[in-house]
Amino acid sequence: MTAVVDDPSTAAAASPTWTALVDRVAGCVACPELAAARRHVVPGECPPGAELLLVGEAPGAQEDAAGRPFVGRAGQLLDQVLDEAGLSRDRVAVANVLKCRPPGNRRPTRAEAGRCRPWLDRQVQLVDPLLVVAMGATAVAWALGPAVRLGASRGELREVAGRPLLVTYHPSAALRFGPGGVPMAALRQDLAWAAGLLPGLRRPAEPW
Ligand code: URA
Repeated sequence: MTAVVDDPSTAAAASPTWTALVDRVAGCVACPELAAARRHVVPGECPPGAELLLVGEAPGAQEDAAGRPFVGRAGQLLDQVLDEAGLSRDRVAVANVLKCRPPGNRRPTRAEAGRCRPWLDRQVQLVDPLLVVAMGATAVAWALGPAVRLGASRGELREVAGRPLLVTYHPSAALRFGPGGVPMAALRQDLAWAAGLLPGLRRPAEPW
């Protein structure tokens, strides 16, 4: 049975593996409104050996129903853009700032993002990616603080939790502005950039 978790900090810190974290986050009730409305907690996905961690905002209706991140329209676009960049989705870790769907798909509140933060911070440690990509304003606020604007931080290699970070538009913005819009072009360009950076970020093999 899933244990109730009302203190994400302690529970996340006590999760020695991704699987342990997934078990614990399933019982999180730190945000009572979200816990009451959700169908599933959506912890994210981490294939073994993932070098890249993508961070989105929060699950939508389809993710809430499936318990998996980015499975709706935004997810389909993300898969396509990853593919174009030569990055297969099944080799990329994906997580959100919030693990539960905000009712009506509203923007997460700053308080919710703060309560959920220990889970994502621990996920970054557990994935130990070579590169993190923050997609959209909520993920940028998580990575760089609420005062930092996406447009101002895009196009530069930044840092989060001691790891290289790129900032880009959210796939939902790319859908909203359409194929000719700035977010679509930027998302394509930035994920291609991420793919190009990875080889240079690989750690040299340990001598033995
Ligand atoms: N939007 C997000 O930010 N995350 C998802 O998982 C789906 C849509």
